[in-house]
Amino acid sequence: MSQYWSPAVRELTPYVPGEQPREQLVKLNTNENPYPPAPGVGEALRDYATDHLRLYPDPTSAALREALAESFQVASSQVFVGNGSDEVLALAFQAFFRHNAPLDVPTITYSFYPVYANLYGVELRKHPLNALWEVDIDALAAATHRSGVIFANPNAPTGHAHPLEAIEALLKRVTDRVVLVDEAYVDFGAESAVALIDRYPNLLVTGTFSKSRSLAGLRLGYAVGSQELIDGLLRVKDSFNSYPVDSLASLLGIAALKDVEHFEACREHVITTRERTRQRLENLGFEVLPSKANFVLAQHPDYSGAQLFTGLRERGILVRHFNTAELNNFLRITIGTDDEMDSLIEALETICG
Ligand SMILES: *Cc1c(COP(=O)(O)O)cnc(C)c1O
Repeated sequence: MSQYWSPAVRELTPYVPGEQPREQLVKLNTNENPYPPAPGVGEALRDYATDHLRLYPDPTSAALREALAESFQVASSQVFVGNGSDEVLALAFQAFFRHNAPLDVPTITYSFYPVYANLYGVELRKHPLNALWEVDIDALAAATHRSGVIFANPNAPTGHAHPLEAIEALLKRVTDRVVLVDEAYVDFGAESAVALIDRYPNLLVTGTFSKSRSLAGLRLGYAVGSQELIDGLLRVKDSFNSYPVDSLASLLGIAALKDVEHFEACREHVITTRERTRQRLENLGFEVLPSKANFVLAQHPDYSGAQLFTGLRERGILVRHFNTAELNNFLRITIGTDDEMDSLIEALETICG
């Protein structure tokens, strides 16, 4: 605590991201992609004329939004971009959820939502997952008098994804406020709700280049929705930072979007490795939740999450362990390369052997 902090800052509970270690570890803790970005990203970087950095970037990010619009088959007026999807989410909280009513959210979901809620004074109404560790769509829909609904699909850190019909069933019942579906992991086997934006003007879908596009270090995220929602986001953005996406990031993002083949190959590889890893973990006695993301959530009946985390760390393998009552016994394991997963399984064989 410092006397210089304003009262609101004293009250904050900041998000704690997974560790970025400086030593060489098998890094399976923050859901980064183990494969490099599309080759065209490297080419664009090498060809970049440094003199462009003298100028401010396009405040509307028109070229990047057009590229995203083309890939989603929507109008560019239905696309918003920001400095990582975390920033897009923060702007969405300000634009849509600061009503005098609670925001409906699952108890277990992306842990940044409560942080933004706290920062922007948004009250949360938390709905437990169902017995299968799935987001309880019916409970979210049944609540009344709200500022909105937010959840991740696939959900984090469980990996479960609802099909499009379930999302549409929710949208049929929640029409008065924004429903935000965070699709950070959608490319690893789930269905995107972008297909519904023309029919549901209150649907906002967010996404990121950090996971399936292997560009976590670049910081690029986006939202897709009706023009009125995008305009709401633009109002907040232009009241805060006119240039959240720098010219280099925009150029490299466009290069990444162009290479559909590389994108498909990487995501299929991650999906195949995920299913093999799930099987091998189950062979070691783990319970593994079914996942449509680039991670799995797993627990062992005989070893605590903390024990396993420490044992792996001693063997140079970093996974994510959450210190909350519901998740304490679990490990969230990012899907890496096949070699990295071999190291994980070997280490677990000695720890659990
Ligand atoms: C990783 C993640 C994000 C943040 O993505 P960035 O674009 O890197 O900020 C948002 N939502 C969920 C559910 C995530 O897992």
